[in-house]
Amino acid sequence: MVFIALLAAGVTACSATDTPAAGVAPAPSAGVDGPGAPSGPARPARASPTAPADPSTPVGPSAPAGPSAARPLAGKVVVIDPGHNGGNAAHPEIINRLVNVVTERKACDTTGTQTDAGYPEHAFTFSVATGLARLLRREGAKVILTRSNDHGVGPCITQRARIGNRAHADAAISVHADGGPPSGIGFQVLVPGLVPGYNNRIIRPSRRLGLGIRTAYHRITGEPYSTYAGQRGIEVRTDLGGLNLSTVPKVFIECGNMRNAADAARLTSPAFRQRIVKGLAAGLTAFLRAPG
Ligand code: ZN
Repeated sequence: MVFIALLAAGVTACSATDTPAAGVAPAPSAGVDGPGAPSGPARPARASPTAPADPSTPVGPSAPAGPSAARPLAGKVVVIDPGHNGGNAAHPEIINRLVNVVTERKACDTTGTQTDAGYPEHAFTFSVATGLARLLRREGAKVILTRSNDHGVGPCITQRARIGNRAHADAAISVHADGGPPSGIGFQVLVPGLVPGYNNRIIRPSRRLGLGIRTAYHRITGEPYSTYAGQRGIEVRTDLGGLNLSTVPKVFIECGNMRNAADAARLTSPAFRQRIVKGLAAGLTAFLRAPG
């Protein structure tokens, strides 16, 4: 089934931790999320039982400018990149195409990993991303997703970065879950390492964004720092197209290890994903409201 094709594609782990790029993405603006209406086989968890999305809430350019107590993120633009996509496994000819991420050439996109029980990373990332988008919009932010459903292919990691750049995002985050060693547990935030001539200007703000997300995520979800990657929940990377090619502050997060039984149980739980959403929103909000 799906993951047979996945193996055929030669991509299993969240190696693609990486981000984005494009070929088959929906039309450039179609990839930009609409009112968040996923239609794929894996519906995202409902993000906020207590506060359903309000379709009347103004978003984007028409939103009132300037923050207020009720809309502290008014005027801010956030790009959320749900890693991978549900249709990737069936289209290795597309996602295995090599793209240039400056430090190397790598696959346009990958299938991502899954839990032992078969809960796929792409469904997880889409669930978290749509819940996060809903929450941030309620706070007044304009939110753009790099894919609008969980059954398409791609976009390529390069295109995912481009979406954040074109939006002039105040912050961008790529959401993933890892396919690490089964004995390893925990999350890590991936921040950009310097790729001279490319991402110089985003190194410092991205690190600040990463630290804010690391701290809030740890506090709100209770998830431990990764026991097998990074240091105290932070890892500097120069192999990810999404970070190398970004011109806006950006980080990745590996929310947990799907190959670890305890993490897998948490990541599969809609209630835990809601805590993830709250943790990420708190980290992003802290960064966006901090001066400078
Ligand atoms: Zn991934």
